[in-house]
Amino acid sequence: EASTSDDFQTLLSWADKHRRLKIRANAETPEDAAKARELGAEGIGLCRTEHMFFASDRIDHMRAMILSTDRKERKRHLAKLQEFQHADMLELYRVMDGLPVTIRLLDPPLHEFLPHDEDDANALAERLGKDPREIHQARNDLAEVNPMLGFRGCRLSVVYPEITRMQVRAIIGAALQAREEGLNPFPEIMIPLVVNVREIRLISEVIDRGIAKVTKEKSVSLRYKIGTMMETPRACLGADRLASAVEFMSFGTNDLTQMTYGFSRDDAGRFIPQYLDAKIIEDDPFVSLDQRAVGRLMRMAVQESRQAKKGIKYGICGEHGGDPRSIRFCHDLGLDYVSCSPYRVPVARIAAAQARVLADIDN
Ligand code: PEP
Ligand code: MG
Repeated sequence: EASTSDDFQTLLSWADKHRRLKIRANAETPEDAAKARELGAEGIGLCRTEHMFFASDRIDHMRAMILSTDRKERKRHLAKLQEFQHADMLELYRVMDGLPVTIRLLDPPLHEFLPHDEDDANALAERLGKDPREIHQARNDLAEVNPMLGFRGCRLSVVYPEITRMQVRAIIGAALQAREEGLNPFPEIMIPLVVNVREIRLISEVIDRGIAKVTKEKSVSLRYKIGTMMETPRACLGADRLASAVEFMSFGTNDLTQMTYGFSRDDAGRFIPQYLDAKIIEDDPFVSLDQRAVGRLMRMAVQESRQAKKGIKYGICGEHGGDPRSIRFCHDLGLDYVSCSPYRVPVARIAAAQARVLADIDN
């Protein structure tokens, strides 16, 4: 109904006047990004780039790149993936115009891109003109006992810098093209699953060199930032050291909860209902941030990194970024923004305003 919706818009505009937290959205597609903006998002807080490679027209290039041991062939597929990523990023910059777009480097273990069952593996072998045994071998080689704690996140960038180079060229190439269109793109490149500052230094060097190359070719400059996900306890415990190497930190509370509790985020449904019934835990820690555990790590990380360096921007991009109680905590902690799925943006706007009002009353 028009009047209800008008009232709601009025309420949201009041909320916007009072909140201090910025609200961003997690989005990878232009459609989601457009929806997020329509609902009031002030940037993209997490673009999970791997989603762009799962689409049917790209995944075979990803797979062929992973499977190939031939340098030239790998390069050819990387070039193809770069084209796709470039086009996707350009669309995102167009939708978001001058707003920040936080783009996370490839995160999942590579075997996630390979076919999961025999029929798919055989079909892939045929499409790529390979022996099916090669594919089975690669699947075995890449299989991990505990992939969520395995060869993923920035560990991929360390071992395969060529993947990072490809992504950086796409991210920056698209930004320069957006600039030529009169837009003002603002990419923030984010490194996932970091545990220490050496990872950030090593990968930043690859990023900076890639950016210098692309911008020199076109003799232009570009604003961009490099930052890190804070999603391992080790990163939070060493945040003072990480500070020196980043311009922003974004708490990935999905992985951070998983690793703090030792609860698998993919299997926790099997016992959490019973844990809640038996009052072993008060809340599902994957839904509402546990302020005494994950929140404590966050507080430590913010305080210690702030002491080490001024001017870092702080955000949260785990599911908790859209949860009102967690938003209150993020406000109190002094984060700069929360990022949540597009449909949670309106609620996040209101929760952020409520957090501000309640915090003012408490103080
Ligand atoms: C997280 O771990 O909180 C996060 C945002 O990353 P992902 O959910 O993609 O692992
Ligand atoms: Mg994560």
